[in-house]
Order: sequence, then C-alpha cells, then structure tokens
Amino acid sequence: MTESNLKLFDTMERKITPFFAINKKEVGLYACGPTVYDYAHIGNLRTYIFVDTLKRTLTLNGYKVNHVMNITDVGHLVSDADSGEDKMEKGARKQQKSAWEIATFFEKAFLVDLQRLNISKPSTLCRATEHIDEQIQFIQALEEKGFTYQTGDGIYFDTTKLTHYGALARLNQQGLEAGIRVAMAEKKSHTDFALWKLSGNRERQMEWKSPWGMGFPGWHIECSAMAEKYLGEVFDIHVGGEDHIPVHHTNEIAQCQAKNGRIQAKYWLHGYFLQLNNEKVSKSGHSLRLDSLIQQGFEALAYRYLTLTCHYRSHLNFTWEGLKAAQTALHRLRNKVSELPEGGSVNDRYKTEFISYMNHDLNTPKALALIWKVINSNLQPANIKSTLMFFDSILGLELDKQAQLSIPDEVYQLVELRQQLKSQQNYAQADKTRLKIQRLGFDVNDSADGTSTIIPYTGG
Ligand code: AMP
Ligand code: ZN
Repeated sequence: MTESNLKLFDTMERKITPFFAINKKEVGLYACGPTVYDYAHIGNLRTYIFVDTLKRTLTLNGYKVNHVMNITDVGHLVSDADSGEDKMEKGARKQQKSAWEIATFFEKAFLVDLQRLNISKPSTLCRATEHIDEQIQFIQALEEKGFTYQTGDGIYFDTTKLTHYGALARLNQQGLEAGIRVAMAEKKSHTDFALWKLSGNRERQMEWKSPWGMGFPGWHIECSAMAEKYLGEVFDIHVGGEDHIPVHHTNEIAQCQAKNGRIQAKYWLHGYFLQLNNEKVSKSGHSLRLDSLIQQGFEALAYRYLTLTCHYRSHLNFTWEGLKAAQTALHRLRNKVSELPEGGSVNDRYKTEFISYMNHDLNTPKALALIWKVINSNLQPANIKSTLMFFDSILGLELDKQAQLSIPDEVYQLVELRQQLKSQQNYAQADKTRLKIQRLGFDVNDSADGTSTIIPYTGG
C-alpha cells in the first residue's frame, strides 16, 4: 500500500485519516449513481461535484482513478427500507411512458448536467438492468452461505446472521429507529432487506426470470455486484450522499461481508445534503433542477462555484442570493484571468498551500479563498495566471473561458425600460432600474452613441 499526503474523512473510522491506496498507481472509486425516474436535482448534482473534486484531488496526488458509477434503472423502491412501489415503474406510470423510455431519457439528461458542470465522466457507467445475471449469482452465493430467507414477496438478507451489521452507521440506534417506521411484513428483523423481489400478481414492465421466480433485484445488490465486477472484491473508495449511510451502504457492506468475508471498500466518503429553506432537496419534495438555474440566467459553473464555497461535509442551504454572489465572483475571476498575460510559471509557495488545503479532506472553501489571495498578491501577472490555472485544474471552474452571458428576458426588459427613462430624462428612475439589473447579476455599459451593452455585474 502506498501513502500520499492526502487525508480524507472516513465515515467508518469517523475521523480524518491518511489515505493509503491499495495499488501504487491506480485508485478504484465506486460512486453510487442516480435513480433515473426523474431529472437529477441540484442536491444530487452537489454530490457528483464532490465526487469529481475527490477524483481531481486523487489525480493531483499522482493516482490514475478507475471510477465506476452505476445507473439505478430498476429496484429502488419508494421507501429505502423496501416498501412501496419501484420508483421506475411509478415514474413511468406518472409520465405515461415505459420504464425503459424514462430510464434512457433521464440518464441522458443526467449526463448533460454532468457535462455542464464540468464533471468528468466515469471510466465505467453501468446499468442495473444490464447486470441481472451478476446480481442473481451474488444472491445465490449469499444463499449458499446461509444468509438469506424467502418470504411470500422475495428473498431477504438476514441481518442477524452478521455480527457487525450496521457498523458504518452505528445502527443500533439510528437503523432500528428507521426500521420501526416501516411495516415489517414477513421480514424477520426490521433491518433485513430485499435481495430479490418477486413480481407476484403485480403487473411489471421490468422483470426477469430467476431461480426464485419472475421478479427484479433489490436496490442494494446492484452496487455490490457491479462494484465487484469492475473493481474486484476490495477496492479503495466508495462514495455517495449522506442518506446512504444508514441503509444503502450499510446493506452493501453486509452483503459483501457475508459473501467475501471482507468490507469491500477501504474508505467510505459521504457528501452532505443540499437544502432549500433548510429542508433537504429531494426529487419527490422540495426540488430544483440545474435547468431552472440556467433559465434564470446563471451559468452551470456558478453553481459549481457555489458548492465549492462550502465543505462537502457541511449542509449547504441554497439561496438565489448565494448563487448570484457565486456568479458574480466567477465573472470577476474570468475577467481578471482574461487580462493576465500567458507564459508564466506556477508559484511554488501558493501551489503547496493549495495542495495542503485540498489534501486536508478536500477543503475547497480555503482553496477558493486562496484564488483571491493570489490575485491580490504581488506576483508577476503571468505567474498569477499560471498559478490560477493550476488551481483551476482541480476546481474545474474554467477560469480561462470568456464569461458567456446567458441573459434572462427580465434583464433585456429592464435595459429597455432604462433606455426609455433616460430618453425621458427621468434619471432617478433610470438609476433605480440599473440597480435592479445589477441585482440580477448584470450591468450596462453605456457608449457615446447612446447604445448600451449588457455585461456581467462585477460589484463595486
Ligand atoms: P438518487 O438519484 O436519489 O439515487 O441520488 C443520487 C445521489 O444524490 C445519491 O448519492 C444521493 O445520496 C445524493 N443525494 C440525494 N439527495 C441529495 C441532496 N439533497 N443533497 C446532496 N446529495 C443528495
Ligand atoms: Zn450504491
């Protein structure tokens, strides 16, 4: 095993620990992917920006990253605790399309969002529906080892057979409380979970033959089966959102421990939730899509900037004001970078400082703040540019891009109104209108011939 200077917060250890890779050069990273029954919301995307930041930081430390991400296109039930309908089947009914159609549609939309946010694609993207055999074989192996039992509606994992079940989440308290809220049905324990669900009399679009009858895999088995296929029985890092700690990752660990006698990942990392009005963003409740931000005139990368201002292990409460400030900062940075000459070199002192922040459990707020320190430093302008572009290779904000303005209609209307007010010599109202434009993150540049150009508002 090799050590770098990277330290990460491991949920299992509950502390920041030095990162040791199993292999010298390559890190195996498994990230739980989206359930594609609807558009991803900006909370989901926060988690994927965190994964991308982690990947870039691993690369910074000299590792090649073998990044595997699943697409959950079957088996995730409305309740994480195995009750209710399959989200895909429910989504399909609601949208009057087939479950297969919505899976393809929302997977594509998700990949577009990743691209807009400058999130690099995983090395392997694998769909649950294309790995049914692997999942069945995994369940059979569990069955042979005596970890399963059958009920009227499926094959379940018997969590009482595992001594350390729930270590990731200290499940004695949290998990059992979560369990009490759901009906036990024929389950022997609250924490037992479905490996294979039988279709029974239910009409289903997605179902497969299995040794136990027609049905579909439980949600957790897909990740264990696909992670093992693409990364082996034990790999370096497993990531997901904080909601995965008590149920999904706990159950993935249980399955792999039962089958292979080992915990499949060396490190478990979790991104904390994005909130709206201090409540969690979720597809079924409070939700907001990246498209909605873009329609309001924001760049996708302004959202990336916003998420980097907050450490991934803190909740981030989304506000439009916060997003505006992020957009303004990004415009300002881009304008500054565009004025700086090429041909400099990266400053060693600032490089070391930047790496030390990123290597301390991805401290992006400190790394971002360093950008501004470098801009205001007395380095040669060309060296400022090179240093900033080095930072950008990890932060992914495309600082060398000219600000691409996506201007909302409201801004055009206000600019027109301001022109009218000026022509009526109503300067007081014209100034007030300009303030409104600035509040939307834009400004006007008046030229001598009386025309106005819309530019990003950079404050001051
Ligand atoms: P899902 O599409 O629901 O399977 O979730 C995809 C990813 O987004 C998972 O890693 C979740 O843990 C994560 N996630 C869900 N809601 C949020 C949220 N509000 N903030 C951050 N991440 C989230
Ligand atoms: Zn997973």
